[in-house]
Order: sequence, then C-alpha cells, then structure tokens
Amino acid sequence: MRTLIVNGTVVNASGVERADVLVDGERIAVVGVDVARERVDRTIDAAGKLVIPGAVDIHTHMELPVGDVVASDTFETGTRAAAFGGTTTIVDFATQSMGRPLREGLEAWHVKADGHACIDYGFHMAICDVTDATLAEMDELVREGVTSFKLFTAYPGRMYSDDGEILRAMFQAADSGGLILMHAENGIAIDVLAARYVRAGLTSPWYHGLSRPATLEAEAVNRVARMADVAGIPVYIVHLSSRDALEEVRRARERGTTVYAETCPQYLFLSDADLARPDGAAFVCAPPLRPRDHQAALWDALISGELQLVSTDHAPFDLHGPKTLGHDDFRLIPGGVPGVEERVDLIYDAGVVGGRISLQRWVELISAAPARLAGLEGRKGVITPGADADIVIYDPNRRHTLSASTHHMNVDYSCYEGRVVQGGADVVLSRGEVIVDHGQWLGRAGHGRFLKRSTVATRP
Ligand code: MN
Ligand code: MN
Repeated sequence: MRTLIVNGTVVNASGVERADVLVDGERIAVVGVDVARERVDRTIDAAGKLVIPGAVDIHTHMELPVGDVVASDTFETGTRAAAFGGTTTIVDFATQSMGRPLREGLEAWHVKADGHACIDYGFHMAICDVTDATLAEMDELVREGVTSFKLFTAYPGRMYSDDGEILRAMFQAADSGGLILMHAENGIAIDVLAARYVRAGLTSPWYHGLSRPATLEAEAVNRVARMADVAGIPVYIVHLSSRDALEEVRRARERGTTVYAETCPQYLFLSDADLARPDGAAFVCAPPLRPRDHQAALWDALISGELQLVSTDHAPFDLHGPKTLGHDDFRLIPGGVPGVEERVDLIYDAGVVGGRISLQRWVELISAAPARLAGLEGRKGVITPGADADIVIYDPNRRHTLSASTHHMNVDYSCYEGRVVQGGADVVLSRGEVIVDHGQWLGRAGHGRFLKRSTVATRP
C-alpha cells in the first residue's frame, strides 16, 4: 500500500516545509516536492493542513489498579481516544506489585495491551520494591526494550523507595543504560500533613492540595537530582508541577547534573481553584494542581527549553464512580486525571494559536522530544524517510469544544469541559494505515505493536 500526502505543510521539530510525503507500507519513503504519483494507491490532499509526526505520550496509565479500583481506559479504549486526539504512540507504566518480581508486573501489562492496543506502545517499569532480585531484573528488562524505570519518593508503604533504594536503582541503571524516572514529592512529610488535616476534620479535595505543597515537590527534586549526581546518571522528573520544583531543576543543571523534566496539561491549564469545586475529586492527582500563578513559570520553561516535553499522566476514574470514594477523606480519592485525547489540541491552541511557541516547538514538545527521551528516535516523532508512517493531518483552524459528551476516553468527565480549542486532527495514520478519518474510526484493536525501546542518549 502506497499513500501520497500532497499539498500539506510538513512540520518537524527541525523545521517547516511545503512537501509531499510518500508512505510505502508501514514507513515513510519520501519527503519532498513533486513526488512521482505512479504506483500510488491512495492520495490524501492536505491543502491548508499541517502534516505532523503522530504525537507521542510517554506518561499514561491504562487499566492501572489503584487500591480496589482500576483506571477506566483499557488499552483499546485509551489508545483509540489517543488516536482521535492525534497521538499515535504511548509509553505506559507497567507496574510492579509489592513483593513480586518486575517480570510479573511486566507480563500483566503485556496481557492488558498485547492484541488490544490500537496504536504502538511501549512500557516503562514502575518499581515499588528495590531488592537484589529486582535490581538484577532491571538489566534483563533493558535488554527487552523496557529501558526506563520509575521510582517514587511518594506513597510510603505502596510505591515509596527510600534514598538508599533509589541510589541502588540509579547505580544499576548507570550500568545498563536505563533511564531513571522520578515521581518527586516528599511522601513521608505529605502523609504527616494529610493526617493532620483529616484529624482536624478538613477532609475535602482542597486539603489534598494543601497536604502536598510545592516545597515538598522541590525538596524531592533536589534530593533525587543530587543522588543522580552521586550515581553519575541523568534523571527524568515526571509530572513537574510547580515553580519551586523548576527552580531545583535549574540549580541541578547549574551544578552539571543532567535533568530532564516533563510537565502535563493539568498543570498548565488547571489550578487549585478546581479542587475547591463541588466536583473537586475529579481534579485530584499528584502532584496536585497548584495556585494559578505557577502556570506562567511552566509555560516560560516550555518556551525556553527548561522543560523538555508535555505528557499527560492519563489516569481516568469516573466522577460518578471511583472518584466518589474519599468523600469523607481526600486520601481515599483515586488520584489521576484523564487527558490522553486532549494534549495535542490544548498545547496547539494555547501554545501556537496563543502566540507562545512556534509550530516546530509544538511538535518538539508533543512528539519529537518524547520520542527521543523514550528511546524511539528515528522511528517515532519525525517525518523523514525510514521513520514509521505515524502521521497526523492536522487542521490548524478547526475549532471544537472539549467535552465528555464528545470525547472518546472511557471516562464520564473532561477536565476541560466546555473549553473551545482551535486545531484538531483530521486524518491519523499509524504505520501507514489510516485509523482516524475526519472523526470516523477506521482502526482496530490489536493493530498497535509493542515497541522495544533503545536506551536513551544522555544528552539534554
Ligand atoms: Mn507519579
Ligand atoms: Mn503517573
């Protein structure tokens, strides 16, 4: 099957050009002007449209069990929703169960995803239990293409690793080339604050925010960055949410430590005011939504390059379901917000239409940088000969309203309900197959393939 995309404006992180794109089978064959049209099976007219590499979201949680409930998007529904929003690759967090081998967690995620995902996917491994055995498993996983590991300074008794455990994992990663991802919030201190609020009868979602102050995110960022320095490795800070944490990233880099950091749409568009709403549980996630004045600092960092990318931390729980837990105790509300479908449009609308970033920077933040930092450079995140033909024909002018009544995520609310955005994916190709065509679903469960990822080059 040969598909020719004509008359479009090709946007890569490296530049913008008027070019045709020839797709041959699953890969991009030619990017250029006046591409020969013989032996072309299908032509897509992209006049007036942007032709961008399919977006890459390297922070999702499909079907994640949290306590007694499970994130409501399966790999099928979540990746279909992602595709509607212009995302053609996810990297999800396979998660270890306490006391069990990493392998068991990884295999559980393969069962959830293999044969079900509609777009290509990889896994990070989330580690909650650092032992000699799990450290040895890290090397095995790197060889199998699971090249990144998330550890937590939060959630004592569940996901938490102490400083020694984190340092041991960092040394292990230094040997194997794995990348250490950190959830950086001081969970020990947070639990003390949270217990104090609950004891005082202050149990609403608002106090979820107050119990996780930005200073305790900054403290943990500083701590893990200094440990990365001791281990001599880079570290990747997931879901950075605050000005305070950003300041610690800056300081670490000034000392010569390589720190990568992502933020998420919820920290750019939402604030602690949302936690004060009657449906505040919908907005409970960790780190929590911050006071609105943090947003400008995060945008500035996306513009300057201090933040490398935007991921979603997609973790959907129904407002009229699991989010009703914790009515009397915010600690029991399952943490997480949906967003895998909305990221590309939100960043385009507020970033490009809003005059903050260029088209190239937009593609860098949503596609090229995440692909590179996930060890998918050359395959994903770029429109160039030899890359996978994951391509989005993006309408830069179409306005639409984000809403649970129209979105494809399997969750009963949108964090951005009623927000009008400009820009939207018209046609989405995954490895050469059209899977979305002007709102029509043409993809299928099981089309997505597991991506064995490379180790990541340790350059910023
Ligand atoms: Mn996290
Ligand atoms: Mn997460």
